[in-house]
Amino acid sequence: MNAIDELTESFSRLPGIGKKSAGRLVNFILKADSAYVKRFASQLNSLQEKIKPCSICGTWTESDPCPICTDTMRDRSVICVVEQPQDVATIESSHEFNGLFHVLGGIISPLDGIGPDQLNIASLLKRISDGSVTEIIIATNPTVEGDTTALYLQRMIAAAAGIKVTRLASGLPVGGDLEYADKLTLARSFRGRTSL
Ligand code: ZN
Repeated sequence: MNAIDELTESFSRLPGIGKKSAGRLVNFILKADSAYVKRFASQLNSLQEKIKPCSICGTWTESDPCPICTDTMRDRSVICVVEQPQDVATIESSHEFNGLFHVLGGIISPLDGIGPDQLNIASLLKRISDGSVTEIIIATNPTVEGDTTALYLQRMIAAAAGIKVTRLASGLPVGGDLEYADKLTLARSFRGRTSL
């Protein structure tokens, strides 16, 4: 394998990038401005060192706790529970939600061998144990696993009295991904959220 083949192989491991696109990217890099290529390489190199999950909510952050967790203007009585860190960015871009977040880090999926213990559920229950949270909005994706996870959380949280558990309203594409929901759909789902 020469350097071109090696880089093509690396690119083709990225989500959504097939062999053909990977080859195009390598050719682009070969011809690109070398300052750009150096900057790109160093960004890739330092990303995992610079960005870590927030120790409170689990979203990707450069400072810990993250800017959302430390923002005093946000409503600390509502926590929106999402599957992945990138879902936080999607919801933030809708400007529809001003509470806090909690990232599960996945979803209950027995077929993939993922149970509640592998997700950040204990830390969520700990966060709500002081009584300051009055509503948990479950924003897992509208899939079978997303629904299963929502029901599981609802049962766990229901034990803590006085907390309303809601789920984003449908309108999100069924079986779809929060990541691909447009801002308007997402805004509507927040306003029309229903109690579990
Ligand atoms: Zn945080």
